[in-house]
Amino acid sequence: MAIKSLTRYLSKKSTPQSQPIPGREREQVHNDAGGYVFPVTDWTRLDRFLILGSENGTYYASEQRLTRENAAAVQRCIAADGIRTVRRIVEVSDAGCAPRNDPAIFALAMAAKLGDEPARRAALEALPRVCRTGTHLFAFAEAVEAFGGWGRGTRRAVAAWYNRTPTEVAHQVVKYAQRNGWTHHDLLRLTHATPATAEHAALFAYAVKGTRDAVEPRYAYAGMLAAVAELATTTDVKAAAALIADHRLPREVVPTELLTSPLVWEALLREMPLTAMVRNLATMTRVGLIAPGSEASRRVVAMLGDGERLRKARLHPIAVLMALRTYASGRGLRGKGTWQPVQQVVDALDGAFYASFGAVEPSGKRLVLALDVSGSMAIGHVGGVVGLSPREAAAALALVTAATERDYTIVAFADKMVPVGISPRQRLGDAVKAVSGLPFGGTDCALPMLWALEKGVKADAFVVLTDSETWFGQIHPVQALQQYRQRTGIKAKLVVTAMTSTGYSIADPNDGGMLDIVGMDAATPALIADFARGG
Ligand code: CA
Repeated sequence: MAIKSLTRYLSKKSTPQSQPIPGREREQVHNDAGGYVFPVTDWTRLDRFLILGSENGTYYASEQRLTRENAAAVQRCIAADGIRTVRRIVEVSDAGCAPRNDPAIFALAMAAKLGDEPARRAALEALPRVCRTGTHLFAFAEAVEAFGGWGRGTRRAVAAWYNRTPTEVAHQVVKYAQRNGWTHHDLLRLTHATPATAEHAALFAYAVKGTRDAVEPRYAYAGMLAAVAELATTTDVKAAAALIADHRLPREVVPTELLTSPLVWEALLREMPLTAMVRNLATMTRVGLIAPGSEASRRVVAMLGDGERLRKARLHPIAVLMALRTYASGRGLRGKGTWQPVQQVVDALDGAFYASFGAVEPSGKRLVLALDVSGSMAIGHVGGVVGLSPREAAAALALVTAATERDYTIVAFADKMVPVGISPRQRLGDAVKAVSGLPFGGTDCALPMLWALEKGVKADAFVVLTDSETWFGQIHPVQALQQYRQRTGIKAKLVVTAMTSTGYSIADPNDGGMLDIVGMDAATPALIADFARGG
């Protein structure tokens, strides 16, 4: 009797997602929706956390729970191999893979405080590569306090940050005055930083007391500090614009009253970094600097069209996508006025989104790009970016692969297939809008494979963009893929592109034809193409 039921189960090719696959009960875990899936490794979860963050949680998990779970996974990585963990943090942060740097800073602080001696040392050595700006450093200080406070090594590393070239530090000091109550004054006091030179000493005094008494005119940053002081009291926009242009001053030091002047913005635009430029497009349009046919419009369009420059600036695709959505809408998210979007700028942003992923070598394979558009994918903010749900991000990401590949089909599913007509020939904003308004539904991640079988669609790889919160179907996604392989004779692969930072996946870790990657990493489209092409 027992044997008979056992063999019956073994030959069974489909198992409801609400039950584990027979024989694999120990390997599978519950997802948050009550379905059975595979756990991912802590390293995969580290990547998911670094790139997608945990802010705002998911449809199922609060921000607090998701952060706690991710922190536990990061801690296990640090314990298993602290050096490798730090290396990965630096890679993701330095290459600009993530839309926001906060998870990397958080993880680096964990390694610096909770790691063993070599891990701690590696983390603190990596501090300037991960904490590149004053704002990053403040975030690190905040995290350090949460993980046990200031030790000798941490003080020394932060003090060293302030002893880099004086011009570089001066720029950070004037541009980023504070974050969440943290100031340069706090950090210099806490770390007892000893200035390396008299030039540093004068700068520290400026940061602490706001006085330029010790700044000698021959110091490289003297002119800039004087210009910042002069700008604070200037009401003449021409004089202000000249100060900004001559001393390459950033927007952060410009008094609010001057920020309505197109002349001032024109001066700012000359040296404006790409990320700041993208963020300020609406304002520059509202003040009249960016207008149809204007010199500033041409400059902005040229900057956005320079792929090499986009990549060097680490301009993240999500930053471009969000700028595009806001800019094209003609109105600010938080009631920050209205403007008339300039069409050439909208088009340039559309192009910049694709270019910001870098060059992707097409796989030439037959791909099914399957978007999970179920209810859970409509909730939460991908990478902590307000206003971008996982399903919107998934649609945008699928378009990047679609734009490079010749042979692809885009489908969408919830607890049944959902017709969505999106293609890279559409405007990016319209394609994203096409999924954002869809009704909520349950989730069955086996559907793309079952659909392809039923319709006779030949696929070398299924790319499923999902949160893996599948529970609805009567067959597990991996069983559906096995059926597809058996019945078509195609050794079809499965690429699971994670859109949330949870700890599980529909991919079978024991199947070399399946891969877990993280959605919205700038490298994602290249990883998809490489895996589809390989072997
Ligand atoms: Ca769902």
